[in-house]
Amino acid sequence: MATRTRLVAGNWKMHGSRAANDALLGALVSGARELAGIECVVCPPFPYLPQAADRLAGSRVGWGAQNLSEHGSGAYTGEVSAAMLVEFGCRYAIVGHSERRALYGETDTQVAAKFAAARKAGLVPILCVGESLAERESGRTEQVVARQLDAVVDASGADSLARAVLAYEPVWAIGTGRNATPEQAQHVHAYLRARVARSDDGIAAGLRILYGGSVKAANAAAIFAMPDVDGGLIGGASLVAEDFLAICRAAEGKE
Ligand code: PEP
Repeated sequence: MATRTRLVAGNWKMHGSRAANDALLGALVSGARELAGIECVVCPPFPYLPQAADRLAGSRVGWGAQNLSEHGSGAYTGEVSAAMLVEFGCRYAIVGHSERRALYGETDTQVAAKFAAARKAGLVPILCVGESLAERESGRTEQVVARQLDAVVDASGADSLARAVLAYEPVWAIGTGRNATPEQAQHVHAYLRARVARSDDGIAAGLRILYGGSVKAANAAAIFAMPDVDGGLIGGASLVAEDFLAICRAAEGKE
């Protein structure tokens, strides 16, 4: 059976300042010295990537971006390319976060193009999928996450998931304080892994699938104990060093 190194990634969203980041990054660098056997990453807003690169270089904490352009370069005012992110040491890029899909109209096709652009530049995309409350309540969870995943597999092939991370983020659980139960998360994670396995068993077995949606220090251990949950994508709790580190320790199996 493939071993999957657990990953805990912090999505800072549009939060932070030079001073606040300095304190947070400093606390993460020292707290992360005790971590072993897991990967820990933060995704600050674009302007703070050089600050993250300076503070985190040589530490156990990696960094990535929250978004990127699907285009390589050109007349795309306000956009940031994958190659630019690589220049600032990013290893990961979140693509298809539900806030991008809902607030900025990102389509499955556009998300698939961003996924491909990230991989082409050598970044590891963290592809977010997840259903709304109305979709869950009408029994369409599997149909929605399958559509979102298939858009990427159809565009880039199942092989592309060998260097990618999937994140199941039910929209109704993001920033609401209402997390999916461990069993609800496990059900969707197992479904996603089985769907990838239809194309490639080996890639499915090695694919890290993160859960995201109101993960806190108090509920992380129970969620991470599920066999198909390989870590978390953390919003609010990633802005508080002790909370994020406690979630990382839960991923180590120590909390
Ligand atoms: C997120 O933004 O990806 C997220 C999971 O947020 P929160 O942890 O705050 O629900």
